[in-house]
Amino acid sequence: MSELRYNYLWDTWSVVAPERERRPHDFPPHTYPSKSDPSKCPFEPGKEYLAPHEIFALREPGTAPDTPGWRVRVVPNKYPAFRIENPNTRYRVGIYDAAGGFGAHEVVIDTPDHFKHPHNFTVEEMRDLLFVYRERVRSLYGDSRIKYVLVFKNYGREAGASLTHSHSQIIATPQIPKLVDTVVSQSRKFFREKGRCYLCDEIGYELNETVRVVYENERFLVYCPFASIVPFQMRLTPKFHQSDFSKVSDSDLYLMADALRMALRKLYKTLVNPPYNFFIHTAPPVRPFPEKPDYFSGIDQFFHWYLEIVPRVTVQAGFELGSGYIINPTTPETAARFLREVLL
Ligand SMILES: [Zn+2]
Ligand SMILES: [Zn+2]
Repeated sequence: MSELRYNYLWDTWSVVAPERERRPHDFPPHTYPSKSDPSKCPFEPGKEYLAPHEIFALREPGTAPDTPGWRVRVVPNKYPAFRIENPNTRYRVGIYDAAGGFGAHEVVIDTPDHFKHPHNFTVEEMRDLLFVYRERVRSLYGDSRIKYVLVFKNYGREAGASLTHSHSQIIATPQIPKLVDTVVSQSRKFFREKGRCYLCDEIGYELNETVRVVYENERFLVYCPFASIVPFQMRLTPKFHQSDFSKVSDSDLYLMADALRMALRKLYKTLVNPPYNFFIHTAPPVRPFPEKPDYFSGIDQFFHWYLEIVPRVTVQAGFELGSGYIINPTTPETAARFLREVLL
């Protein structure tokens, strides 16, 4: 029997349709990344001149910017969707509203190794990558015109990656994106009604139920959300309350790296190298908001950051686009069981 499930944080409904129950072998194996040629890759060490000047890098002592010796490197996107130089203004176009494309669009080159991807990173390599995410969020939040910073990754062509060399992206926007705004207002609503953080409750419930748990260590939990919109969706979140990803401590970064690495290894093994996206939802930085003076009040208590992994193994069709409901042919309980039990 299919079931409609409510995703409280995103205020959306998914239709979990187990009549069509699709198991891992029902999804075609992916060959991505295909054999690509490092000699044509702009992210190779020694080819730093092919990308714009680096913004930030983790490098060996004594090496200069824009030269080899880096472990993770951040450069401006060559084809940015948002730019710091663009006007941060809103204006009218006839009867319509529009805004200048102010913001920032950065590319994080996750590794100097053309053939290495996060599922085969060491914990130290994953920690380095998360460290760079954290530093960039901190730095961009320092610009008061920036209202939100989204860290995300596209892996595989179907997930939007145009280059095979492992990279992530960071987009800073002059507005709080709609989905993040929904998470803020839903979390605030729950906190005002119950006096507790929504995700802290959800985490407690999932740890107790165990059926949707994929992996946990002392500080982080990975589970398949109850109202997952796609098969094998996973949420990684601190088991303790924390609103702002940019405040993760160095020791927690290491444990977060362990959890993310395990989640991606399990996904790789279970679905045989599927394309996926992940993104981080963290509390937006406190900014003046004259129309909603209470917007940020208590946000560090009611907002709980998380990283969402969304495999791209299904296609959203007319019903999804037209209704906003999303049909998920694999129950999160089945997905979690496969992910939990897969041998690495
Ligand atoms: Zn490369
Ligand atoms: Zn919490």
